[in-house]
Amino acid sequence: MGPVVPTVKLFIDGKFIESKSDKWIDIHNPATNEVIGRVPQSTKAEMDAAVSSCKRTFPAWADTSILSRQQVLLRYQQLIKENLKEIARLITLEQGKTLADAEGDVFRGLQVVEHACSVTSLILGETMPSITKDMDLYSYRLPLGVCAGIAPFNFPAMIPLWMFPMAMVCGNTFLMKPSERVPGATMLLAKLFQDSGAPDGTLNIIHGQHEAVNFICDHPDIKAISFVGSNQAGEYIFERGSRHGKRVQANMGAKNHGVVMPDANKENTLNQLVGAAFGAAGQRCMALSTAILVGEAKKWLPELVERAKKLRVNAGDQPGADLGPLITPQAKERVCNLIDSGTKEGASILLDGRSIKVKGYENGNFVGPTIISNVKPNMTCYKEEIFGPVLVVLETDTLDEAIKIVNDNPYGNGTAIFTTNGATARKYSHLVDVGQVGVNVPIPVPLPMFSFTGSRASFRGDTNFYGKQGIQFYTQLKTITSQWKEEDASLSSPAVV
Ligand code: NAD
Repeated sequence: MGPVVPTVKLFIDGKFIESKSDKWIDIHNPATNEVIGRVPQSTKAEMDAAVSSCKRTFPAWADTSILSRQQVLLRYQQLIKENLKEIARLITLEQGKTLADAEGDVFRGLQVVEHACSVTSLILGETMPSITKDMDLYSYRLPLGVCAGIAPFNFPAMIPLWMFPMAMVCGNTFLMKPSERVPGATMLLAKLFQDSGAPDGTLNIIHGQHEAVNFICDHPDIKAISFVGSNQAGEYIFERGSRHGKRVQANMGAKNHGVVMPDANKENTLNQLVGAAFGAAGQRCMALSTAILVGEAKKWLPELVERAKKLRVNAGDQPGADLGPLITPQAKERVCNLIDSGTKEGASILLDGRSIKVKGYENGNFVGPTIISNVKPNMTCYKEEIFGPVLVVLETDTLDEAIKIVNDNPYGNGTAIFTTNGATARKYSHLVDVGQVGVNVPIPVPLPMFSFTGSRASFRGDTNFYGKQGIQFYTQLKTITSQWKEEDASLSSPAVV
């Protein structure tokens, strides 16, 4: 028998309870690969209990005044701020990113919670008085019922916070399934939500992998699913959930291009590229993982390599670490295989992080910053989302060629152009078929008053996460046409003939 490690609890009906499952998944510290906990694959009975709890508490929560729900969120944003460092510590332990990145992870989620506090404006319906005599038309935005969220490993706080606070402030109850690799942050966030005054049973948490996902897709009492993760899982969940009559929004994989024009601010651009390609070990759906150097910008490659070499690879909780490990040994192997494929298919490895060793963390899943040049669009390392600290570099002579490459790529999550020419920036922003465009901004994730608008193969569904779109996703419209005849009004004078 191995060492006794803590078990992750279920959160059902307001109680943190031990699962009765006989199937458990180990949670590892990616910097050491030590087992630091175990997460259950929830039993069918536990999952049923969680949905029943959501269903039972829905009518009262939906009927709770919007001002009271807003108060819960106002207290919640304060508690997240007060516990930000502890949530970040859990993220670094389970996910591996640096503490600074982990704090950013919480902070970006917190911004969505803060935005959700303005629900009283966001959820307003529409009115049109006097559409005919004595008749008015108006609409309400009403909650859907029980909603569910399925989250990935790479943003253990931010992504769950894109989901349940928005859904619940609208009056829905919520079933959350965090990533089985990084459940800790979600559990603490649930505790804080309860401490903020969310009634027992309005938020429930189950754990697991495929069975839990299938359960969510199929359950008739779940009305909507928010998914963030890989294309393989997202397309499956979109199809299966939609087939069962649910709304599904699925944010998925990416291949984000940074187009570097020769007139760009060189210093700024190279720094931005290095941070956006290798930060968080490239495990960001908005990582700028592909650079297209246009014209004379091709000459900047040696300097880019020099900057990337300076990044410090270490365990995420070590001072000065710029990037931490990958999530699992399998993820490391996959990334290394993709780098190998570049060599085999004729690209050049200008900086190779495959054999890096981190002192004191020899068993960690580390890959150092890697730059592959002479990449062509038909190469495997270009076509696949690498999800590691690897920058692939293509070169073109013109902006038009660069735009064509980006638009021919199936993904549409994010892109950036680096230039000091406004007309170039405008042309690029207009012609590029990608949902989120940065102009001298390498990771253009919109703030929560806008929505996360990844497009094409990076998204399935028609209503995006957070912002106005998020409110739309978690509500349905009811439109009322009402006639109150003036002559029926009490104590009015008789109609003058
Ligand atoms: P993943 O798809 O492996 O896991 C996401 C969730 O789906 C987990 O909860 C997991 O339990 C479940 N799951 C995994 N495989 C499944 C399957 N075959 N069938 C059913 N459910 C399954 O994703 P990940 O590795 O945790 O996250 C990385 C991916 O997420 C990357 O592709 C990244 O680009 C993407 N991502 C996208 C965004 C975005 O907003 N577009 C944000 C973050 C991450």
